[in-house]
Amino acid sequence: MTARMYYDNDIDPAALEGQLVAIIGYGSQGHAHALNLRDSGLDVVVGLAEGSKSRDLAEAAQLRVASVAEAVADADVVMLLVPDTAQKGVYEKDIEPNLRPGQLLMFAHGFNIRFARIRPPASVDVGMVAPKGPGHLLRSVYSAGGGVPALFAIEQDASGSARDRVLAYARGLGSTRAGVLETTFKEETETDLFGEQALLCGGVSALIKAAFETLVEAGYQPELAYFETMHELKLIVDLMYRGGLNFMRFSVSDTAEFGDYVSGPRVAEGVKATMKDVLTDIQSGAFADRWIAVQEAGGGEFRELRQRDRDHQIEKVGADLRAQMPFLDPVVVHAGEAQATVGGASSAEAGDAGAATATQPSTSRTAG
Ligand code: NDP
Ligand code: MG
Repeated sequence: MTARMYYDNDIDPAALEGQLVAIIGYGSQGHAHALNLRDSGLDVVVGLAEGSKSRDLAEAAQLRVASVAEAVADADVVMLLVPDTAQKGVYEKDIEPNLRPGQLLMFAHGFNIRFARIRPPASVDVGMVAPKGPGHLLRSVYSAGGGVPALFAIEQDASGSARDRVLAYARGLGSTRAGVLETTFKEETETDLFGEQALLCGGVSALIKAAFETLVEAGYQPELAYFETMHELKLIVDLMYRGGLNFMRFSVSDTAEFGDYVSGPRVAEGVKATMKDVLTDIQSGAFADRWIAVQEAGGGEFRELRQRDRDHQIEKVGADLRAQMPFLDPVVVHAGEAQATVGGASSAEAGDAGAATATQPSTSRTAG
């Protein structure tokens, strides 16, 4: 079965004509949604909590800013773009009391619907547009005339227009320039969590650290080990991104390719069984329960884990080496800075976890 892809020409933007879109939160995703929709001709208001660190940034970008309650009361469409762990609190305090029948409540990730943390009334539409990329890229790729692909889903269609409005939203984001694909909240949530844990954030980080440590513990120079592992990974992944594993293998030496076939499976032995366990914990809700419990206990375990890896030798060696390569547009991560201050691609999905932020040390670049 080939999945149906939707592109600009498949979508009627009129479904959102004359409708006001409230973007709640102005972080990694929030700034990109607000600015892309506005530049696509939609009417946007940004809803922020009192004392929000991002208010000045949104106003400097010529966006209208209101309280969350006001934005929800005025809007026809409400997109919830605060961290997943904060969404339930924001929803209960300022969104639910102001919801009207026929409004469309939207998410960029299905976590709170899939794990029943948020239960919207049957009288509203519930939909999702989940861009398959970090917020800062969603903005920069759109500004350059492109789009980041996205998944979309309809959970509730009370008005009869949920699907058309969700697709028009995806078009406004620029995602239908690249193609959008229909999913469900369940499929999006489970595959997204799996991908970031097993491979993209978790698996790859663990492999990088293991390879770096193996070399350094064997007495090789840490700087060399950094280049051999984290730095070169990017160059290899770029080949895969353009032409798959075949193009990577076409480009590397025959020796590297042979080593890939004979040693790769040794490194990955048992990995699929472990990945299945990880997937089972996601599907059963065990991972979600654990993550919510950590947050409800004040986030101490999360902060400890973050600190432990932040001090890893590869992060220190890497920062010094990257500082000598300004062409990389190196980024230094600080705690507690507004997400929308970061420009460029390098901030990745740090925001997925809720609080890590990053800035470019040098220049005048902002998220706009
Ligand atoms: P961010 O961490 O970047 O969100 C920051 C925004 O949320 C800021 O405006 C911040 O306030 C506000 N905020 C933070 N905590 C609270 C709180 N407790 N109460 C009220 N407001 C709060 O989030 P992301 O953009 O990373 O994630 C938003 C959604 O998008 C999530 O559902 C995530 O899963 C999804 N998503 C994220 C991706 C990404 O690229 N990061 C990729 C795809 C989906 P202040 O203005 O004060 O800083
Ligand atoms: Mg993800």
